Amino acid sequence: MNRPTYRVTELLGDGIGDELSRAVHRLAESLPVLVEFVPVDLRVASRRARGMAIYDDAVASINETTVALKHPTATTEESPNAVLRRRLNLSVIHRPVYTIPGVPTNFRRELDLDIVRIATGGTYDDPGRMIGEDGAVSLRIVERGPVREAARYAFNLARKTNKTVTTASKYTIQKATDGLFEKVANEVGDQFPEVPHTIELFDALLGKVIMSPQKFQIVLVLNEYGDFLSDMACGLAGSLGIGASANLGFDAGAVVRVALFDAAHGTAPDIAGKNLANPTAIFLAFSMLLYQIGEIGLGQAVKNATLDLLREGVRTRDLGGEESTESFTKVVADEVARRLAARPRPHSGRADAEPPPSRATEFESADPSRPPTT
Ligand code: ATP
Repeated sequence: MNRPTYRVTELLGDGIGDELSRAVHRLAESLPVLVEFVPVDLRVASRRARGMAIYDDAVASINETTVALKHPTATTEESPNAVLRRRLNLSVIHRPVYTIPGVPTNFRRELDLDIVRIATGGTYDDPGRMIGEDGAVSLRIVERGPVREAARYAFNLARKTNKTVTTASKYTIQKATDGLFEKVANEVGDQFPEVPHTIELFDALLGKVIMSPQKFQIVLVLNEYGDFLSDMACGLAGSLGIGASANLGFDAGAVVRVALFDAAHGTAPDIAGKNLANPTAIFLAFSMLLYQIGEIGLGQAVKNATLDLLREGVRTRDLGGEESTESFTKVVADEVARRLAARPRPHSGRADAEPPPSRATEFESADPSRPPTT
């Protein structure tokens, strides 16, 4: 049987990067699709030998495959993450934050948030300015383009996963900047009438996420708010180092052009090469990648199998378990294969019945305001 094939740029990393790469390959083999990894070596030795030219290779490959999985890299002369973000114009970050079984937390509730953060503008590019000795001003920038991109991504995600969107800002106080944000988000939301959209004041949202986390699913926010909310949510979930995120770049029509997925943790040099690395975060990053290429069912299977096994106590040592990187990977891969075998694969192997997209993504081609991009 011909399996659908997907090409994925794989950015090789330092420390535990090689072990994580082997783990993801093993996991990918359990899927009823062929994932063809196109490696680009971002290890320190390669970066030193090739200089900035290695990023030309990385950018060319990602532009070609449109999706990439990145392993952690040591920051040396430059930060590979910063270089890639700049070179690929990755302007939106999607960071799911949920309580992960086995990860200790002070929070006793279940949390499952998708934070979609506009990662440009705000006050981050502003050098600020003193006014005399005793005052200072800063400039906060909000632009229609990135808000539109992030909003389209958030509402498309909501449509595909049957979730709700909450936008949160201080539009009653920051009338110009946050008012523009809410206006653009509303305009985009109007194109998705079936997606419930609620608006919260950002300070109220923080309290409500703590009091009633089940009320919130996808939360769309400007840069600073996304920064604050991500850290608060990760603190609640206790999963600062175990999450994953998507870094998204868009074309002129606000359609996702490239998506780079990575784990939140670093290179963990202290345990490198010891078969101790926990591959959960890279599995969750890979699960997001599967969603993005339209393999929603496979993405769900990878995420749910991983979390269910953690819940059952199948854990690596960092989470108090006995498993090694390899044994944990094998259990997850076998469980994913078992679950997928028990479920007939829909037409063309996809969770929906649309033809596979070529360059644009599942979420994007689902926007009714645009023709499907195949
Ligand atoms: P870097 O400089 O790349 O950020 P770091 O060691 O300073 O590396 P992390 O890599 O995030 O920061 O590691 C922090 C601690 O968490 C280390 O003790 C590391 O061994 C542990 N750790 C990080 N990632 C994992 C993982 N995937 N599995 C098991 N332990 C991990």
